[in-house]
Amino acid sequence: MKKLIFTFAAVALTVVACQNNSDEVIPNQEAVNIDMSDFYVYTYDDLSSKASEGAKNDKCYSMKVLNRQLKENPGLENRMFAIEKHTRTFISAKKPSGTPGGGGTTPDPTTDPVYTGTITIPVIVNILEDAAHPVTQAHIDSQIAILNEDFNNNNSNTSSVPAEFADLVANADITFTLAGVNRKTSTKTTWGTSDAMKYSSEGGIDATDPTTYLNLWVCEIGGGILGYAQFPGGTLVTDGVVIGSDYFGKNAAGGVYGHGRTATHEIGHWLNLRHIWGDGRCRQDDFVDDTPTSDSANYGCPTYPTVKCKTNDMTMNYMDYVYDDCMYMFTIGQNDRMRALFASGGARESFIN
Ligand SMILES: [Zn+2]
Repeated sequence: MKKLIFTFAAVALTVVACQNNSDEVIPNQEAVNIDMSDFYVYTYDDLSSKASEGAKNDKCYSMKVLNRQLKENPGLENRMFAIEKHTRTFISAKKPSGTPGGGGTTPDPTTDPVYTGTITIPVIVNILEDAAHPVTQAHIDSQIAILNEDFNNNNSNTSSVPAEFADLVANADITFTLAGVNRKTSTKTTWGTSDAMKYSSEGGIDATDPTTYLNLWVCEIGGGILGYAQFPGGTLVTDGVVIGSDYFGKNAAGGVYGHGRTATHEIGHWLNLRHIWGDGRCRQDDFVDDTPTSDSANYGCPTYPTVKCKTNDMTMNYMDYVYDDCMYMFTIGQNDRMRALFASGGARESFIN
């Protein structure tokens, strides 16, 4: 039943998008042929793990926060549709005609100058200080270093990628630089997922210009949640990523999640990546051609192969839920999605220049 509602919503959105947004989001006539029929924004809250996986909690709250924001902000669904359409238009322009799922062409720097080359993202770290969960400069520096490893294909564990996926490993060529650290003492022991940490009026720290800085908020979230991100298209003042204090940088307190990869995963969302299993059953996609179909998150440190939906899961992808040391790749298709945001008309184009 809900599927029917989704279908009607998608049709309605297509009409709205064509009427209102075509000039802004469609860079060329090719966009007319972009298939948006599988696009979704709302997800069921209980689909991140199969019933058989029982009490395992969501490690990442991004999709649940998105569900909340969609309800609070009626324009968000339209904006995300437009961003997705722009992304698909951009990616389709990269592929040789007649090769769906391809994407192996050499980008033309004269038409897409930002597609190639390093993207630099200045990072502001906003820390809500809590004596029980200290965040040191060493944590901050190690986090920046880990991001630069992961987004430049320098994670030493990547050598363990199975042969089946080895050709898909991407170098995103994104460099993160520490642009500033804001600290504020707080007596709050948990901040939850309501975005309070992003407002000084609620005891948090206001974002530093999210059009040119990636804001990270580091605080105790609670509930076993490692972090959450806001997808492109959301309200500017809450744009960024929230990371639990113990899971920020190399941090012994974080245990198997203390190796800095919560930030990698969440920044993946901030750069418009969905969870690799598509937050739904086998047919619900993550909008990436070169990731296998799956129907649920993987946990722990899975052995290869892990079969779901009749294919081997890419459990070592940063957008799964495995332990930090067991995730070590983005795919070429994921890289295309991320970099589309920085192309002309993209949602994060303002970071270029
Ligand atoms: Zn996530």
